[in-house]
Amino acid sequence: MKEKKLQIIVVACFVLVISGIVFLKTDFSNDEHYSDIINDNLYNSGEGLIAITGFICDYDEVLPNGGIIVRGSDIIWEGEGKDLLDIKDKLSSMKLLQTDDFIYPGLIDSHNHPDYNFLPKWKPQQLFNNRYEWASKTSYKKFMDPKRDLQKKRGFNVFFPKLAEVKDLLNGTTMTQGARRLSALSGLVRNCDSYNGVKDDFISTSIKPLGGRELKRVDEIIENLDSGKVRKHIVHLAEGKDEESRQEFYEMQKLGLIRKELVIIHGTALKDKEFKKMSEIKIPLIWSPRSNMVLYGETTRVDKAINDGVKVALAPDWSLTGSENIREELDYAIKVNKEQLNSFFTDIQLFGMITKVPADILGFGDYLGLIEPGMKADIIITDKKLPDNPYKNIGMIKEKEINLVMINGRVYYGEPDYVSSLADPVKFEKIKVEGQNKLIDIAEDEKIYPYATQTFKQLMQEFKDAGYSKDILRIKVEF
Ligand SMILES: [Zn+2]
Repeated sequence: MKEKKLQIIVVACFVLVISGIVFLKTDFSNDEHYSDIINDNLYNSGEGLIAITGFICDYDEVLPNGGIIVRGSDIIWEGEGKDLLDIKDKLSSMKLLQTDDFIYPGLIDSHNHPDYNFLPKWKPQQLFNNRYEWASKTSYKKFMDPKRDLQKKRGFNVFFPKLAEVKDLLNGTTMTQGARRLSALSGLVRNCDSYNGVKDDFISTSIKPLGGRELKRVDEIIENLDSGKVRKHIVHLAEGKDEESRQEFYEMQKLGLIRKELVIIHGTALKDKEFKKMSEIKIPLIWSPRSNMVLYGETTRVDKAINDGVKVALAPDWSLTGSENIREELDYAIKVNKEQLNSFFTDIQLFGMITKVPADILGFGDYLGLIEPGMKADIIITDKKLPDNPYKNIGMIKEKEINLVMINGRVYYGEPDYVSSLADPVKFEKIKVEGQNKLIDIAEDEKIYPYATQTFKQLMQEFKDAGYSKDILRIKVEF
């Protein structure tokens, strides 16, 4: 009898232990979240929810048969596409776009000069030692004349960045940098320096780190950084290949401006010693290889910077000597990585430089740069030209192969079928990008964004009237 009792106790303990292990190994969290979504939205059958399926491609992971749900401006769920279809069965009013495409987080251009990008390429006939050499050339100054002329015309301070943001939309860029605060648009693409839709604080940019007016601003910059009024100080520094350029780092140090809020653009003349100091203080670098190669014939030693522990993002700088957009710059960086850096970077690392890394270094890592529940719904969807390599795919596809661009949960651009699945197409304008039908919505509500009400046609007409109709978007767009 005693033996039988013991047996029962042993078996009972065994069953308890095994069920404990099974319990621990079973992840109920997703099921709970899954049923949360259904329960929370049953009363309205999922009204106000947007769902998309496809191959989700993030910097840190991929989900080949994935799905996401967006509510308002936020991603609220990410999981398997089949689970999403189960949710859809229960929530009939939820809008659904089923694709077999790549789904990426919106691309982040961490440094540009949008006001200049309507100008054609500037092709200098020589290489330079530093930025001051080319900036003082008469041929360069003459090249800038049209901008000065147009600036005097009414409205063009708004038309410049709006055109740049339209080019961004056509290329999947959802946040940009560098528009002057007075001309930046508080709609369309996020402007990280000012109207970013996430934070109220500001980022300050210095074109000339030490010269003239900027030097007079040093006390003001330090005061703003100390008080937290300005969160990041983005500076063109050490842009060149000579010792004079490198010494700018130490002149900044003397002024007390080598500090954790600093973000260095270019740093082409910097060496290990400076990279180590940057790593110690956590100062990141923004790398623009194409513009560097055109102007100086060499580019920043980003391999050394990374080895020294510096975070590096990638950005075009501007289209005059750099790439037309961030995807073209990625494609160029892939080439430089192979030909000059002995494939130091993986394709994933380079992709991270236009998504997760710039979000982190500019202080938006909690909101942007990844597709995850809790992040803002900045999403782009593209064709799969390179099905086995989504990271390279994003750089090499053509504009017409971008199928949807969503910012803050709002659809701005895409294939007619895709747009119609998620938004009311009535508001959108019909255009043809490289022969492919697309819909675009860039006219902001007058009550919310009074300076950004122009439609695509009106914006193009403004530039046409000013003598700039030809090739202004750099790709064939009919409207
Ligand atoms: Zn720049």
